[in-house]
Amino acid sequence: MTATPLLELKQLGVRYGNIWAVRQLNLSIASGECVALLGSNGAGKSSTLRAISRLLPAAEGQILWANKCLSSFRTESTVRLGISHCPEGRRVLAKQTVLANLELGAWLRRNKKAIKIDLDYCYQLFPRLAERRLQLAGSLSGGEQQMLAIARALMAKPNLLLLDEPSLGLAPLLVDELMQCLAKLNKDGLTMLLVEQNVYAALAIAQRGYVLEAGELVLEGTAQELRKNSNLRRSYLGDE
Ligand code: ATP
Repeated sequence: MTATPLLELKQLGVRYGNIWAVRQLNLSIASGECVALLGSNGAGKSSTLRAISRLLPAAEGQILWANKCLSSFRTESTVRLGISHCPEGRRVLAKQTVLANLELGAWLRRNKKAIKIDLDYCYQLFPRLAERRLQLAGSLSGGEQQMLAIARALMAKPNLLLLDEPSLGLAPLLVDELMQCLAKLNKDGLTMLLVEQNVYAALAIAQRGYVLEAGELVLEGTAQELRKNSNLRRSYLGDE
């Protein structure tokens, strides 16, 4: 871990009205890391991502980006900093083409040459999107729409990619394919915070992980430590 993390959550609290979704969360991500944020339904994972990208206010605590506090930032400013959020449920524009969806991801960028380089990178990473670039996004399969959602987030040229349940609803073979793509992105230098219920798939590519339960941090460690953790194995693999 470097002295200054790229992103740091300090005692973060997020709530909806009187209901706390996340409490006193401390988490950090160094540049170049892939960090998994794990936990079952309703544990507070999506709320954490929404607070980082400022879709939700932090009710308490701090969100620091390279030591700078994001409290007063709007979502657009976090995108300018390089935080790109790929939300749960894909949310592609069904009536627009694959290409138009990808171009939308680059809406804040002006350098056409650099945008084209990133478009080619996405097509190389997800060849099926290249084949279907003029097809309407709504006609893609679930797995392809997930790839499009990730590629669209990449078109913002992020410094940090927030991924919310990318494997949700995908067949096991597609989950493997997707995880390999995410591993390649991380190997190419992209920093990622990966929210997953598919704990072992996430720990196969992440270097470290945090486990939330009912909004509170219950476990953290290297991926290797977490894979061996007997509580986690009992909860997610059904080990005795
Ligand atoms: P899931 O994988 O099911 O999305 P999660 O770990 O991402 O789970 P969150 O979606 O962050 O969990 O939810 C954390 C808590 O906040 C839950 O108790 C949930 O019911 C509550 N919550 C989430 N969104 C809202 C909302 N818009 N209004 C009120 N409560 C909410």
